Amino acid sequence: MALKLPIYMDYHATTPVDPRVLDAMLPYFTEHFGNAASRSHRFGWEAEEAVAVGRERIARLVNAEKPEEIVFTSGASESNNLALKGVAEFYRDKGRHIVTTRVEHKAVLDSCKRLEKQGFEVTYLEVRKDGRVDPDAVKAALRPDTVLVSVMLANNEIGAIMPIGDIGRLCKERGVLFHVDAVQGIGKTEFDVREMGVDLASITAHKIYGPKGVGALYVRRSKPRVRLAGQIDGGGHERGMRSGTLNVPAIVGFGKACELLTEGWRDEARRLAGLRDRLWARFQAELDEVYLNGPPCGPLRLPNNLNVSFAFVEGEGLMMAIKDVAVSSGSACTSASLEPSYVLRAVGVDEELAHTSIRFGLGRFNTDEEVAFVADLVIGKVKRLRELSPLYEMAREGIDLKSIQWAAH
Ligand SMILES: *Cc1c(COP(=O)(O)O)cnc(C)c1O
Repeated sequence: MALKLPIYMDYHATTPVDPRVLDAMLPYFTEHFGNAASRSHRFGWEAEEAVAVGRERIARLVNAEKPEEIVFTSGASESNNLALKGVAEFYRDKGRHIVTTRVEHKAVLDSCKRLEKQGFEVTYLEVRKDGRVDPDAVKAALRPDTVLVSVMLANNEIGAIMPIGDIGRLCKERGVLFHVDAVQGIGKTEFDVREMGVDLASITAHKIYGPKGVGALYVRRSKPRVRLAGQIDGGGHERGMRSGTLNVPAIVGFGKACELLTEGWRDEARRLAGLRDRLWARFQAELDEVYLNGPPCGPLRLPNNLNVSFAFVEGEGLMMAIKDVAVSSGSACTSASLEPSYVLRAVGVDEELAHTSIRFGLGRFNTDEEVAFVADLVIGKVKRLRELSPLYEMAREGIDLKSIQWAAH
């Protein structure tokens, strides 16, 4: 069977909508289009009922105690902003210290920066070489005035799965609220807000085969009851935590996407790990000088993530050479220069190697044939590009590149 090109392997960035999700959504655009806040007629009641079903399905996926613990947002960037700023503002008289890690998503880190400008203090914890934060480091960072700890379930670049249960336990002991950005890990690894002692959790539909522009914040209602200062005022929707008319079709799709995962995530994770492991095995067998960034492929790594440095081959150049495959590189294009990713820097990948890294993010619609095609293509192109690299030649001849005195320029 002929492969359809281009091949999508950037599932950490976004996912296509699952056809079953789309089918569930369609009637809510033109037929059941009511406003879920309209209490006076059937259009409103139908929308309200559809939202209730979606809320229940989302609550079930994270094992919330009650559906009312789910607050709808526009996505996980907003959920992260609401969790950090909402908690900081509400509890500011209790304390002004927040603990997080250096490898969080920008929506967490930039919210922290904003809070620092407003007089909060933030501790940014280092992570180990495998990208995981040490629970003892979290423990050591807690102070009497710490109000919130925020740690992601799994990292979007290197797939490191964090010790959420351990951190949750020690936050409980110390009476500190615990927020988890669960976007990348939900539906790919174990996540249970009750079991793990999580008080707030951010998720988004478009990373789990739902539509873009809808997300949720789980907000614990008992033991403890978490309070938040809403950041968007007007109308008091979502019990005052997030005003605005609910996006009913998107919520229906989000709920359907969660239901599919509740039923099948373990099988899917196993299949994806198989595809990912095959890709990595091919690179290791057929190329030298390839380095895995992040934890070993195993229980501490997202099953769909492979982040590899192909030494002596610029990531951006390799991506141009494999245009038929959609992946990401470890360099972030900032205004003028190519900056190595702050996540790779935080796990001690040196700058040269960071620039040669490629992130493969596998997902539901990738096939065995696609993995074989991508392996062939990448291996072939890496070999070709290295043939053109004088540095690679020198390294092969045993010259220690770090010892060379480069001419001044
Ligand atoms: C994608 C992502 C987000 C942001 O989610 P949006 O819904 O796109 O705003 C937050 N955190 C992580 C870890 C992500 O991967």
